[in-house]
Amino acid sequence: MPAYDPNNIFARILRGEIPNKTVLETEHTLAFHDIMPKAPVHVLVIPKGAYVSYDDFAANASEAEIVDFTRAVAQVTRELGVDLDQGQGFRAIANAGEHGVQEVPHFHMHILGGRNIGRMVN
Ligand code: 5GP
Repeated sequence: MPAYDPNNIFARILRGEIPNKTVLETEHTLAFHDIMPKAPVHVLVIPKGAYVSYDDFAANASEAEIVDFTRAVAQVTRELGVDLDQGQGFRAIANAGEHGVQEVPHFHMHILGGRNIGRMVN
């Protein structure tokens, strides 16, 4: 696992050094609109803790952080109306490392919806 870079762009967003359009903030999680949306709904959900990627988060985050994050993802889908009670669905994806084409080395989940996302994204 690469060392966590405390100056990556999402770490700077968490420190308030770069503005963001927040959708949801909880004790352990922040969700905000992607700066270059690839769909009508494109939100990034990130843990506040310093985790490089999904596997780092899954292995090293506390259960409280993991539960908070997982529920925050679902809450975002409800708040933006793409959940299956109100809307027509969404895709949640996490890119990891070079082969996953991860640009920002702070774990994040993309929530994409508002149109049919097709079979693949990115
Ligand atoms: P990745 O390729 O790492 O999975 O996705 C990184 C995402 O972060 C991209 O969709 C990109 O548009 C988004 N992004 C990069 N810089 C910023 C920023 O400063 N603010 C916001 N809100 N999103 C960003």
